[in-house]
Amino acid sequence: MSENRCALITGITGQDGSYLAELLVSKGYEVHGLIRRSSTTTTGRIAHLMNAAPGPGSVELHYGDLSDSIGLNTLILDIEPDEIYNLAAQSHVRVSFDKPLYTMDITGVGALRILEVARQLARRKEVRVYQASSSEMFGAAPDVPQNECTTFRPQSPYACAKVYAYYQTINYREAYDLYACNGILFNHESPRRGEQFVTRKITRAVGRIMHGFQDKLFLGNLDAKRDWGYAKDYVEAMWLMLQQDEPDDFVIATGQSHSIRDCLEIAFDRVNLNWEDYVEIDPRFFRPTDVSFLQGDCSKARESLGWEPSTPFDELIRIMVDADCDLAARERALEDMNANTDPRK
Ligand code: NDP
Ligand code: GDP
Repeated sequence: MSENRCALITGITGQDGSYLAELLVSKGYEVHGLIRRSSTTTTGRIAHLMNAAPGPGSVELHYGDLSDSIGLNTLILDIEPDEIYNLAAQSHVRVSFDKPLYTMDITGVGALRILEVARQLARRKEVRVYQASSSEMFGAAPDVPQNECTTFRPQSPYACAKVYAYYQTINYREAYDLYACNGILFNHESPRRGEQFVTRKITRAVGRIMHGFQDKLFLGNLDAKRDWGYAKDYVEAMWLMLQQDEPDDFVIATGQSHSIRDCLEIAFDRVNLNWEDYVEIDPRFFRPTDVSFLQGDCSKARESLGWEPSTPFDELIRIMVDADCDLAARERALEDMNANTDPRK
């Protein structure tokens, strides 16, 4: 069914973009990715996908930016993708308090720019759009667990921007009959998670502590609870949403919630250390408003998409710790090698 299909992924260099690109390549898609021009290499997560010749099962990258409407228009109308996955965003909640207007422009209006080009392309051919919505939109909602009917109470500029994009996506579906879906994904992690997000910050620190690179880990609110799943599972759900007869919105979650303390316990236990010996609280990592509790109910996705989370939280954190211990070991070996070959010694 997906043979000879063509997809565009914005945010292909990010955690989810890299797993989604892998999935689509394995299904024989011709994958196109939007990347930002940078003076440093940002394609580390997808480098292993860049060897195939153009065509089915390949990945081709194009420079662009969600702020650049004309560039997006030219690119999308040229590629004519069957599916567009809009994963690009200023995705960090804490940063969104420092950069609220920028966050709104990229995370909120950026999604509208994609929808608007998709509307034009839909005059020529069918196109399906996935919008990366977020459990952060529920924010301070009193209902637990949160599902597709829960009222949003966003608690950050990031969450407000995602709510804006969510409603634009629904409006394009209803006003223009565009096949457009919101995946309301709860937090999802992996060894490829950005190092500024709390799970990865913790597992990276465990690896670095084990190999002598750091001896303290500075964190903010340890009491917040999140419903954390495995990113590899979650990109399957994105793809499934675009393969249905009718477009719809779906919550994707594990249904289990854990605190930052639980995460610390599992991560440090993995290497037989006591987290309390290493963690210090740093006020810089607190937020003006923080979401204290998120737990999702993905019954609709289970029933309609046949989607299930496969990886329990403790296993996920152990996978991440093991990967980060290997990474730190490689960094240590490199450092030792450089020290031994330093001609000044
Ligand atoms: P990442 O932060 O890992 O990746 C974000 C991607 O967006 C990167 O490829 C980044 O490029 C790109 N990007 C940022 N700004 C722009 C811009 N102005 N123009 C074009 N591209 C840009 O996020 P994740 O992979 O974790 O998340 C994917 C999406 O899902 C995001 O929209 C996020 O908000 C949302 N989401 C994530 C959840 C999670 O738990 N991971 C939960 C719910 C929603 P570069 O590499 O150059 O920085
Ligand atoms: P978010 O749910 O998208 O904001 O994902 P994060 O991983 O950034 O944060 C999850 C929770 O961890 C939030 O409640 C943060 O306040 C809390 N947290 C505590 N310390 C830290 C920290 O040092 N960095 C980050 N990113 N979050 C922290």
